[in-house]
Amino acid sequence: MGENTYLWIEDYLDLTIQEAKKSFDSGNFPVGAVLIDDNGKLIDSAHNLMLSKQSRVLHAEMNLIIKNQLILYENPDKYTLYSSLEPCLMCMGTAIINKIFRFVWAINDSWAGASNIYSMKSPYFSCYEINIVDSPSIALMKESRKLIVEWLKLNRPDLLLKMFV
Ligand SMILES: [Zn+2]
Repeated sequence: MGENTYLWIEDYLDLTIQEAKKSFDSGNFPVGAVLIDDNGKLIDSAHNLMLSKQSRVLHAEMNLIIKNQLILYENPDKYTLYSSLEPCLMCMGTAIINKIFRFVWAINDSWAGASNIYSMKSPYFSCYEINIVDSPSIALMKESRKLIVEWLKLNRPDLLLKMFV
């Protein structure tokens, strides 16, 4: 185990929340993501930049995958993607196409989360295997939710009751 190697899912999810705080501090919707290899080494991290870059596709997971296109292309089924929030359809699809081995998130998103859609298993998605893991940590769920609720109160109060039902 070398530098930047962690052992627990909670450690990785905690890193996603640190990234989500960067989003929050820059006015963006607070979501963070980290990429971990099959030895537990931190490869890279990213956060949501939609508002500051005025783009609807710059979700944390998209930024992370795009930054690491080449290593994902060369090493299929080797990386785990951790996110502070359940991925949307775009991010889930992008992770599957890029052969992410496992996707773990801190908190479910009943408004835009894609795990329900993925479970329908279209013929296309059935070609790929991705291991989806819900958060093992109530404390991290609460921390991620607190950031998102604070942001929604400031920016999108209409979504407060839609995201966490
Ligand atoms: Zn997304």
